[in-house]
Amino acid sequence: MTAPSILIPDPAKAISRTRLLIGGEWVDAADGKEFDVYNPSTGDVFCQVSEAGPEDIDRAVRAAREAFDNGPWRRMSPLDRSKALWRLGDLLVANAEEIGRVETLDQGKPYLMARDGDVPSAANLFYYMSGWATKIEGEVIPISAPGDYHVYTRREAVGVVGCIVPWNFPLVIAAWKVAPALAAGNTVILKPAEQTPLSALMLGELALEAGIPPGVLNVVPGFGARAGQALTEHGDVDKVSFTGSTATGRRILDAAKGNLKKVSLELGGKSANIILPDADIDAAIQGSAAGIFFNAGQACAAGSRLYVHEDVYDQVVEGIAAVAAGIKVGDGFDPTSEIGPLVSSQHLDRVSGYLQSGFDEGARAVTGGARIGDRGYFVAPTLFADVTPTQKIVREEIFGPVVVALKFKELDQVIAAANDTRYGLAGGIWTRDVSKAHQLAAQFQSGTVWVNCYQVFDAAMPFGGYKESGWGREMGHEVLHDFTEVKTVCVKLGG
Ligand code: NDP
Repeated sequence: MTAPSILIPDPAKAISRTRLLIGGEWVDAADGKEFDVYNPSTGDVFCQVSEAGPEDIDRAVRAAREAFDNGPWRRMSPLDRSKALWRLGDLLVANAEEIGRVETLDQGKPYLMARDGDVPSAANLFYYMSGWATKIEGEVIPISAPGDYHVYTRREAVGVVGCIVPWNFPLVIAAWKVAPALAAGNTVILKPAEQTPLSALMLGELALEAGIPPGVLNVVPGFGARAGQALTEHGDVDKVSFTGSTATGRRILDAAKGNLKKVSLELGGKSANIILPDADIDAAIQGSAAGIFFNAGQACAAGSRLYVHEDVYDQVVEGIAAVAAGIKVGDGFDPTSEIGPLVSSQHLDRVSGYLQSGFDEGARAVTGGARIGDRGYFVAPTLFADVTPTQKIVREEIFGPVVVALKFKELDQVIAAANDTRYGLAGGIWTRDVSKAHQLAAQFQSGTVWVNCYQVFDAAMPFGGYKESGWGREMGHEVLHDFTEVKTVCVKLGG
């Protein structure tokens, strides 16, 4: 086996792409602005990236419009589009080391997780969606109106699509949106989060290399309030696909009103993870710990509310606390790190505020509960017990390595408690009883339910939210509905 240190790339190597990608060209922002990008493991600035403003967004929209209306992408045979998307998947895999390095620098996650987890997951989206490019079909519909008609539907690309992505899985979530948008024949303006712009720029570069024509994928790093807002308000953007906070999702809806562009939203969560007394308790402990602490808890589907049957409550709480205490938190370039830092100092402040509110409201940290060190934005994996359903840490999305544990007695009581939230993104059930698993799964008000597992994602599995966790679905063939319009053609036959 190769020694881990040999696998780890040099964090100090220069970054190759830091300018905007518009119409296939690498360009500076129109006003010349740049912003600093920080390594969250150290708090140090490691590069500057051009900052898109409204003028750049307008340029990118014009490039995407031109590519959609007059470029080859839409006219290309579905098979050629499919091949280009597959090639992009291959190029992501071929460049996994460099993309992984950049993702770790930007986001902080362990390098091996970025290289061997995020990059292949993103590539899988392009492989999977390349298959759909040749299968976007309409239907022939028999109608009952008097007369003789041939009625059919066509599924057509929506047009110019804005994709706004967050910082927790910068490349993966970009792929969730860009792959289906391109498979359906749309053109795209991708705005990564300002904390993590670099892997999106690499994706844009590799898309050109894969033969995806200039202007089909434009990448415009910038700030939400400026670039994101301009993209969402733009009158020539036909659709916005957004992942991020519920608060920003609401702002997106307001901004989209001008031209009533289509909007899909994948928003926050406060997902319940239920452990029944008949579960394989060791598996439930390990799986539930991974379900919250993975990516330092910065995951929209994180199992952040733990409901444990009273018969096994103490065992589970002790078990998860022991796993949490043993997690190695550290710099993503240290091969022994299992989780990295939070993404930014602002996010550290936000999560620290929740920890404090937990203590203020009388919760007990069985483990963790504090920042680690004073350099970088590390937080100890935390389990709060003695919590009550009305506490802020039980109701609000923390988006950090923090789980709350609640005790229950009856099944109907636990499902009511699990659903007592404005969110509805995901949920977990741990039991050996197949009937109970299916009955509970049916009652969960959430877009995904995991049984005896957690955080399992696949390009073929639709993902999205009930209630305030969003509109529409990512992945699976479901997402193609969100990136296409249905046209009904009604032809009167005969004389
Ligand atoms: P935001 O929702 O604000 O950011 C997500 C994306 O939206 C970023 O690209 C951001 O750009 C952009 N954005 C921000 N404001 C606007 C706007 N007015 N118009 C268009 N785009 C905009 O999340 P935060 O980074 O502020 O994180 C806050 C909280 O949100 C977290 O603590 C967590 O609870 C939740 N969150 C949920 C995520 C999920 O996967 N569901 C992912 C990230 C956060 P920029 O970053 O440049 O401002």
